[in-house]
Amino acid sequence: MLDTEIGLYKMRCIVLNCLRAGLNLHRLILLLAFSATLITLLNSYYSSYQVQKQQLIDNTLNNHKAYAAKLVSATDNFLLAAQQQLAYVAKILEADFTNQTLINAEAERLRLQTNSFNSTIIVNKFGDILGVSPLSLNLQNRKVDSFGTKAALSYRVPMISEPYISMAGNLLIFMSQPLFNSNNEFIGYVGGTLYLKRASILNELLQVHYHQDGSYLYVVDENNRLLYHPDKERIGEQVFDNQVINAVLKGKVGKQQVINSQGVAMLAGYAPMTMAPWGVVTQRPLESTLAPLDSLMWQVFIKTAPIGILTFVLIWVLAKLIAQPLRKLAETANTLDEPTTSVALKHIRSWYYESDELRKAMLKGIGLLESKIGLLRHEAHTDPLTGLHNRRSLNMQLSQLMAQQRSFAVLAIDIDHFKRVNDEFGHDIGDVVLQSLAKILLDVTRDSDIVARTGGEEFIVILPNVHPKRAYQLAERLRIRISKSIIEPVGNINVSIGIAGWPLEQLSLDDVMKLADQALYLAKRTGRNRCVVDTIYDQQDTSLFEATELE
Ligand code: GH3
Ligand code: MG
Ligand code: MG
Repeated sequence: MLDTEIGLYKMRCIVLNCLRAGLNLHRLILLLAFSATLITLLNSYYSSYQVQKQQLIDNTLNNHKAYAAKLVSATDNFLLAAQQQLAYVAKILEADFTNQTLINAEAERLRLQTNSFNSTIIVNKFGDILGVSPLSLNLQNRKVDSFGTKAALSYRVPMISEPYISMAGNLLIFMSQPLFNSNNEFIGYVGGTLYLKRASILNELLQVHYHQDGSYLYVVDENNRLLYHPDKERIGEQVFDNQVINAVLKGKVGKQQVINSQGVAMLAGYAPMTMAPWGVVTQRPLESTLAPLDSLMWQVFIKTAPIGILTFVLIWVLAKLIAQPLRKLAETANTLDEPTTSVALKHIRSWYYESDELRKAMLKGIGLLESKIGLLRHEAHTDPLTGLHNRRSLNMQLSQLMAQQRSFAVLAIDIDHFKRVNDEFGHDIGDVVLQSLAKILLDVTRDSDIVARTGGEEFIVILPNVHPKRAYQLAERLRIRISKSIIEPVGNINVSIGIAGWPLEQLSLDDVMKLADQALYLAKRTGRNRCVVDTIYDQQDTSLFEATELE
């Protein structure tokens, strides 16, 4: 249990570290730009797909609505022409209805001359079939027995029947025109059949509009029965629960997306006929309508891909360019305390406003930091009253000299009876005296010499490469120069100077400083206002020191 918890904890740490390490400005810009571009691209693909899809659907619906109307008018025209042919024959027969030869001839002519009907019959008012074409139907001298032929007898008006199975066994519709004598009495009718399942002029007319693109049409009668359908098996079938059929049978012209009786989505146009209570529906499967869209979208994708890839590359390069200055500034921010940082900062190409301002601010910050550090360092090494080195600074400088194995002489300087100056003129004037003495010391020594104030009225001067014996002469000249200087309002002051030097046998720096102090003590004891070299230097080899002069 504990092991699992430790394992989980370790994994969480690893994931968090990866996330922290993985997130940088470059990647964030990339993420932002890529996702924005991708969303825009996908959105434009999606919306153009939707727009084109809707356009295809609308176009198809409009086309099929127009088709349906055109077919309705063609079929109406055909039925009108057929009805007129019947009326024409009726006129001829009304004039001479006892002429059997004429009856036979007209029946034959009606069928063969116009090609409108599959068969024709001429019937008297008792239902006796007087004439028929083709004769092969063997209906002569029989009584009418089918639905259409009997209806024509009873209604006695020009009519188009519902579809029915004929006496000869064909599914058909029957068109008829009544005959009246000169007294306007019904004497019979002339009629023609149109086969629905077998070849007929009606089928030919409708078949013309069967398309390769999956479009097809069908015709329904008032009883929802299919009068025409490309699938011959379905002719005669009644179709209910079809919105389009319901609409067209209500006399509506229109277009609609519909699920057909087979469960297939269809884009349909429809229009009702005027010659018969029928409706024409022409439709195309939605799937075949939209089929070209996929290849179209693929084409769009292929065409836009090169520019898309170029855009992504451009984004990558730009993101890198934008992130680079900030990344370098961030890296530099970790090493602000290193001396090379300001040079590195100056070399960063901050080519846009924010990064440039940041770089300037960092440079300014480093400048302030350095000057502050410089000031603190100066203050830490300087005596505030006189501006000379303090003891810490003196020790550092001496350590450097010793590390470099450079010899030096030490002058330990103490003002004689300084207490009296303070007592007589006050502490402030005492300070002025200390400052004036510092100036004289700086004035007299070389730049390479070290002048320090180590105590109240005690000063140390280090003379590199000077032997104590030589230093004595220099100290003498210094002492005389001080004693001759007038410091207002005090006048003259005197100093005593003890002199020692390094290296000296195996003595340490402290020992050498003590020797200088001892010499100073001796100078004080033997009357003040004098210079004393520790006697030990009498045996020292002067050649260890270069001969140098105080200025
Ligand atoms: P000696 O000749 O023996 O050196 O006599 P001295 O009076 O100079 O020596 P002492 O050590 O008795 O006195 C040193 C005096 O220096 C005591 C103190 O008032 C004065 N002093 C120390 N530091 C300062 C300072 O910073 N400013 C002023 N004005 N006086 C200081
Ligand atoms: Mg003193
Ligand atoms: Mg003193």
